[in-house]
Amino acid sequence: MNLILMGLPGAGKGTQAERIVEKFRIPHISTGDMFRAAISEQSELGLQAKSFMDQGALVPDEVTIGIVRERLQKEDCQTGFLLDGFPRTVKQASALDELLTSLGRKVECVIHVDVPQEILMKRLTGRRICKECGSTYHLEFNPPKVAGVCNKCSGALYQRTDDNEETVNNRLEVNMKQMQPLLDYYQDAGVVKTFDGNRSIDVVFEEIAAFLGMMNR
Ligand code: ADP
Ligand code: ADP
Ligand code: ZN
Repeated sequence: MNLILMGLPGAGKGTQAERIVEKFRIPHISTGDMFRAAISEQSELGLQAKSFMDQGALVPDEVTIGIVRERLQKEDCQTGFLLDGFPRTVKQASALDELLTSLGRKVECVIHVDVPQEILMKRLTGRRICKECGSTYHLEFNPPKVAGVCNKCSGALYQRTDDNEETVNNRLEVNMKQMQPLLDYYQDAGVVKTFDGNRSIDVVFEEIAAFLGMMNR
């Protein structure tokens, strides 16, 4: 299963990814998570990514393509992967195709989670994430059982520094510009499957899981 999750910031990619990878046993590869990890380790990559992320701009393609290339060649990606937040530009998409072709593989499905733009601000500013395990919550739409504490591992929840109104506005603008050409690219390849992401987390997941179950048969 060589899969891509696509959708605007806040569409629910990370939330669905948690559930998809648990059910289908493939690695979850989130470029945003990789950059955040690099920043907290204060590595070279983190230094390169930080200023772009703080502004809600895209990290340059060469940097982003480089980390994905390395990651996809690891052993655990042999049977499949779920890319989340990559590709975000047509240049990244064509670099991914080149890489997969050289490995004798291809993108099998782009899971497009479609959510009206007006909904996204509230989703992002209310988002909270577990420091320990990365699980995603929402103050209103998916609150933890105990405020500020992860249901799964009791870790403390935090808010991403880029989930503030100003940076979210930038991220939405940047990503909306990039998204349509990217969808067109994959529509031409005939691999896009669109899901209505403006329903409950469980309903969206049931539909994605049913579709992937059929595809996997
Ligand atoms: P993305 O990875 O696409 O940026 P997330 O999965 O982090 O999005 O979701 C953004 C926020 O919206 C989180 O706080 C999450 O709990 C919440 N959320 C995700 N899916 C839904 C949904 N179907 N309905 C309501 N809230 C949702
Ligand atoms: P979102 O909730 O906005 O979908 P992510 O965690 O996927 O957030 O990404 C956070 C930030 O990391 C982005 O605003 C961008 O700066 C950077 N980033 C993540 N993925 C990419 C990518 N494929 N190309 C360029 N920048 C990226
Ligand atoms: Zn946790």
